[in-house]
Amino acid sequence: MSRVYNFSAGPACLPEWVLKKASEEMLDAHGSGMSVMEMSHRSKAFEDILHTCKDRLRRLMSIPEDYEILFIQGGGSMQFIMTAINLLKHSADIINTGQWTKKAIAQQKKLGKVNVIASSQDDNFTYIPKITKEDLTPDSDYLYICENNTIYGTKYKELPVHDGKLLVADLSSCILSEPTDVSKYDLIFAGAQKNMGSAGVTVVIIKKALLQENDQIPDMLNYKTYADNDSMYNTPPTYTIYIVGLVLEWIEEQIGGLEEMEKITHKRAKMLYDYIDSSKLYSNPVNKEDRSYTNIPFVTGDPELDKKFVKEATEAGLVNLKGHRSVGGMRASLYNAMPIEGVEALIKFMRKFEEENIGEN
Ligand SMILES: *Cc1c(COP(=O)(O)O)cnc(C)c1O
Repeated sequence: MSRVYNFSAGPACLPEWVLKKASEEMLDAHGSGMSVMEMSHRSKAFEDILHTCKDRLRRLMSIPEDYEILFIQGGGSMQFIMTAINLLKHSADIINTGQWTKKAIAQQKKLGKVNVIASSQDDNFTYIPKITKEDLTPDSDYLYICENNTIYGTKYKELPVHDGKLLVADLSSCILSEPTDVSKYDLIFAGAQKNMGSAGVTVVIIKKALLQENDQIPDMLNYKTYADNDSMYNTPPTYTIYIVGLVLEWIEEQIGGLEEMEKITHKRAKMLYDYIDSSKLYSNPVNKEDRSYTNIPFVTGDPELDKKFVKEATEAGLVNLKGHRSVGGMRASLYNAMPIEGVEALIKFMRKFEEENIGEN
């Protein structure tokens, strides 16, 4: 068996420590004589797993006591809908920074009035638009952003002004890559399959004051239902929550917390950007100050050569480097589980490919 370096944007690579631990516990988890998959979600054994996971997340991210942590199914995409169902009364301000905000805009429009107050679509989403207080709509209920744009490789390095309005943020592809000051947000959501675990659960961190009785909202779409029932109103995705718990344990005990994680995040990204910027063959189209640390698109400028790159990289054990169809070229996703050696191997391959192909370009 030989493992590849997997640069997928999601579902993405997981720490080997997590996979090994899960395999060790596959047949008999925590002395229960069964797999976590086989446990009743009402059992003490599973409740321990859920609570340990939640407590770890609260500790790691320093989540204040006036925020609730919820585990919800339906992916990040369900949160495009749930955020609006729960919070949109007059209108929603959204900053359009790519595919994932476009989808949120389309869904929220079905539920109320949406104001797209800024957009970087004019330059194929290669930058984060700046806004001022005046751009906010007087009657809007919240400002919605996607903090890290997985497809285009941009990231907010500073949060936009929201002037007392609620701030709702999609952190699907950057959560746990760095410390987050949760108190600056009112609602954070993140699908687990990028940087937090396997597919099937979305973590929502919501200010408790926003959990309101509302007869108009079906129970399964109301955040309060999840808060009141410890995320177990119905059967939660038990195994996925268990995997998230292992990833959190790995960050806390093997890496040493989010400050340490951030150092690795920055190191990985700097290595690849420095190489791309020094190269004659590759380029990254993103405005330098808005560059993502976790998703790095790059192109050779020749679609045929890009194809050849992806093919030869795959043969060399560097997989899932094909860029999203809306951007083309390549994309390397450098999430928490990508070891530094994986980035070194990628750069070594890129250098060799450049030497072999620069003459032809
Ligand atoms: C992947 C992704 C989503 C969509 O997640 P699903 O779980 O597939 O619904 C939403 N937002 C961002 C930033 C993403 O990267």
